Amino acid sequence: MQSIPHLLAGFGVDMTTYQGQDLPCRTPVTGAVHATLRMDTPQQVTQKITDARSAFERWRTVPAPRRGELIRLFGDELRTHKQALGQVVTHEAGKILQEGLGEVQEMIDICDFAVGLSRQLYGLTIASERPGHRMMETWHPVGVVGVISAFNFPVAVWAWNAALALVCGNSVVWKPSEKTPLTAIATHALFMNAVARFGSDAPPGLAQLVIGDARCGAALVADKRVPLISATGSTRMGRAVAAACAQRLARTILELGGNNAMIVAPSADLDMALRGIVFSAVGTAGQRCTTLRRLFVHDSIYDALLPRLKASYGTLPIGDPSDPATLVGPLIDAQAFEAMQAALQQARDEGGAVFGGTRAEVAGGEGGHYVHPALVELPAQSAIMHHETFAPILYVVRYQSLEQAIALNNAVPQGLSSSIFTTDLREAETFLSVVGSDCGIANVNIGPSGAEIGGAFGGEKETGGGRESGSDAWKGYMRRATNTINYSHSLPLAQGISFDL
Ligand code: NAD
Repeated sequence: MQSIPHLLAGFGVDMTTYQGQDLPCRTPVTGAVHATLRMDTPQQVTQKITDARSAFERWRTVPAPRRGELIRLFGDELRTHKQALGQVVTHEAGKILQEGLGEVQEMIDICDFAVGLSRQLYGLTIASERPGHRMMETWHPVGVVGVISAFNFPVAVWAWNAALALVCGNSVVWKPSEKTPLTAIATHALFMNAVARFGSDAPPGLAQLVIGDARCGAALVADKRVPLISATGSTRMGRAVAAACAQRLARTILELGGNNAMIVAPSADLDMALRGIVFSAVGTAGQRCTTLRRLFVHDSIYDALLPRLKASYGTLPIGDPSDPATLVGPLIDAQAFEAMQAALQQARDEGGAVFGGTRAEVAGGEGGHYVHPALVELPAQSAIMHHETFAPILYVVRYQSLEQAIALNNAVPQGLSSSIFTTDLREAETFLSVVGSDCGIANVNIGPSGAEIGGAFGGEKETGGGRESGSDAWKGYMRRATNTINYSHSLPLAQGISFDL
């Protein structure tokens, strides 16, 4: 794989614009610092919002299908640079290259979706109760959209938001994770290439990049000129952002922590279930919001499934994420490793039997934090299982009835993703029904992770309630105006009210 400076140069990035003393960028692959950046000051954040606001005032008047053309060009840039951007993701977030490339593919997919959407920003026409009247809905952009993103999807989350926000006519200010600013710099450079090819219809300042930590995020959230904040990250961050936005009655799209479960029912295809469990639980080294963290296995098949699961866990290739043979890369940092060890200790204290979970020795990766993914068998859903620990820990509990399993699925504060493996139609439909899973995502015969962009993505309860990506999530980036048009010669009032002068 090419080095980070070499890759960034390939995107046309001028690193002198970003270099400084404030923010060391460490690769989780080896622990080495490969760049040190300067962070934006609050004044610089304010200026970027000012520029984005000016850009919005012009961009909103560009016809939506023409706005879609910019996103089409951006999608082309991503196609051309997919391999290189995927490598930057691998360097900076530690994802295996297949997942780094998958993340870029997700960006391409949302661009395609947004291009089509740019010709489909439909409003309804509504029957009026008054003669000679017509009602309709018109959708308008909201203004400057603030996007705050997490380290584990360092570029796809921005693309989910930005592609939709931009075709809807908004401008975008992006504050990426301070753990993954280089992927953001690379992505911003590709977007600016698309802008240059698009021409003067794209006003300067349309897409802004803020480099910095939570203080920069807070400055973005506090600014009254940003009517919508889309924030992805921990529930702790979401509470702070929600409170600040509530103070000024700004809108939010919150995509926060998950604590996702799978039910393996007696009729399940165990071969498929096994693949689904392992990919969902150890993919991205357990650092996906949709990672499988809780597994409920029916008593009657528990003893058939668990030995096979342990055998798979015992042979997982752990190591350098750029090696094509690796399936489990590093944790993001030392803090993640310590949080994992603390959770495993608590699980032991709560009666759990832990398999794996120890540090994995990786040649050349001594400065990184590699672990053997952990399986923890527990007699019941204990306190630790109510928390999201952002690491590959899979808690396993037996269940006796579907009602009990659904109750366990729903018993945690988070509500992002869930799944059931069953070939029993009644069980599958019950899981998807109103008395089934309470999550934003409920799947049958696939794991909880690995969403496609066509569906609306997001979760309930402490996951924040936001929806991004496909379906009608675009409406979250627009304001709806209800219009009543009177083409008659009289002025009848609604509800038959008489008001004669
Ligand atoms: P984090 O909460 O530490 O940071 C996320 C972002 O929020 C960063 O850019 C950070 O600088 C910013 N931030 C933190 N505090 C802030 C504040 N008070 N005001 C404004 N900005 C603030 O999260 P992380 O460790 O980068 O990511 C892991 C978490 O993200 C996990 O909980 C995971 O489940 C969640 N996540 C959720 C989704 C989803 O779609 N639901 C997707 C990816 C990650």
